[in-house]
Amino acid sequence: MTVDHGRYRVAPRTDFALDAIDPADRSAFAGDKAEGKKLIEPLNVRLQECQEALYAEGKRRLLVVLQAMDAGGKDGVIRAVFEGVNPQGVRVVCFKRPTPVELAHDYLWRVHPHVPGNGEVAIFNRSHYEDVLIVRVHGLVPAAQWRRRYAQIRAFEEMLAQEGTTILKFFLHVSKDEQRERLQARIDDPKKRWKFNRGDLDERARWADYMAAYEEAIRETSTRHAPWYVVPADRNWYRDLVVGSVLVDALEAMDIRLPEPEAGLEGIKVE
Ligand code: ATP
Ligand code: MG
Repeated sequence: MTVDHGRYRVAPRTDFALDAIDPADRSAFAGDKAEGKKLIEPLNVRLQECQEALYAEGKRRLLVVLQAMDAGGKDGVIRAVFEGVNPQGVRVVCFKRPTPVELAHDYLWRVHPHVPGNGEVAIFNRSHYEDVLIVRVHGLVPAAQWRRRYAQIRAFEEMLAQEGTTILKFFLHVSKDEQRERLQARIDDPKKRWKFNRGDLDERARWADYMAAYEEAIRETSTRHAPWYVVPADRNWYRDLVVGSVLVDALEAMDIRLPEPEAGLEGIKVE
């Protein structure tokens, strides 16, 4: 059974509307939850193999961008999809509120040093997209300034792609109802309470503004070399299945070859 994830890929320069994708959708996979969960482990193993090959080849790079509303499942995806992948070749980078030094520079200044190097996978947990999302919703810079950023981000990502980085961007799309359930669970469960942040409620109150900001950001910056996937994320297993299969298919399409070993090694016995 395969996952038809192409339906969640946002085509460049289209009139993309966020409500075209239902956060509870599961139409890309014919099986049920139990069948879906069974597929995650083999995907995981393929991802480990591909990542090892990428590392061994040492020539190309993979950048994974994760964006979501609070409790949208960014941490869950990282845990489930990258489980067992060799930590040597994978880096998770979290972009939090910028520091004063970061704010004293252009918004890509803090991002560029963290893009993956040869053979590496970098996972951005939030990213430069915050600079057209929260920054827009809270009016942290004038509209004319964040509007210019779409073109700047397209150019930045195009440069990275031309220089050998494969870029995949995921918006984990949860419904407002599902977010309420998850935030409530964080408050009610003492073991999860540390994850809860009062500020999350202020952001939740601006849900419609965030959806408008996400919709425009995705529409403006989904390109052939750096596509966005809008992943239905109300069900964790389905979200993991979609993200995992996009990653594995993209890595397999890269046709990574292990380096040629030195000639004549076969049959040598180590004393
Ligand atoms: P968690 O799942 O643990 O809540 P998180 O990614 O939400 O993880 P937090 O520390 O709760 O991490 O929140 C980080 C906050 O920083 C987010 O509200 C995000 O929007 C904000 N942020 C990130 N980048 C920027 C930026 N460039 N300008 C302003 N705020 C930013
Ligand atoms: Mg948070």
